[in-house]
Amino acid sequence: MYLKSIEIHGFKSFANKIVFQFHNGITGIVGPNGSGKSNVADAVRWVLGEQRIKQLRGASMQDVIFSGTETRKPLSYAYVAITLDNSDHQLAIDYDEVTVARRIYRSGESEYLINGTPCRLKDVNELFYDTGIGKEGYSIIGQGQIDKILSGKPEERRELFDEAAGIVKFKRRKAAAQTKLENEKQNLVRVNDILSELE
Ligand code: ATP
Repeated sequence: MYLKSIEIHGFKSFANKIVFQFHNGITGIVGPNGSGKSNVADAVRWVLGEQRIKQLRGASMQDVIFSGTETRKPLSYAYVAITLDNSDHQLAIDYDEVTVARRIYRSGESEYLINGTPCRLKDVNELFYDTGIGKEGYSIIGQGQIDKILSGKPEERRELFDEAAGIVKFKRRKAAAQTKLENEKQNLVRVNDILSELE
């Protein structure tokens, strides 16, 4: 699996639609300060489901929409799509190519799409569990993040290793099963109460 392209339109400084194509080897994005290099990484984080606006260096989610310049009007929506080669089927989906997209309007309305089909944020999260790519993954190492990892809490460091070891989805499933079990136990207690009242 590898990243084939990123399409950005209306996200932060990218008023015009732009498509980054990635080929084999290493790709560098260079440019003067403030030209939008970090905005490309923000776009990838955002499309992967980042909900914490601070991580995207803004104050509200609408801040990711192109806000205009002296010569250009603001845009009404932001759109980002990443396309991954999935011919090795590392992503548990029956396609050799997977495009994940996210769109947000100034009204606050937003949507996620997987291969053009609207889906929930949960579906995007689940698609990337244990791949290192998800918003909590280690595929994007931001400025200062190494320091944060080294000086972070042991539990936070553990999460990173869990992701790399590919056990996050099992931990999530275990937690969901435990919650269900707990609910069933409570139901059982209630049933027993009713039964003893009737006896
Ligand atoms: P540096 O090399 O200094 O880290 P950079 O190339 O990474 O810079 P970014 O931080 O990606 O630059 O881009 C910052 C630019 O993006 C600023 O000029 C800022 O005005 C612009 N920008 C951020 N959000 C928006 C927005 N919503 N609408 C228009 N422009 C925006």
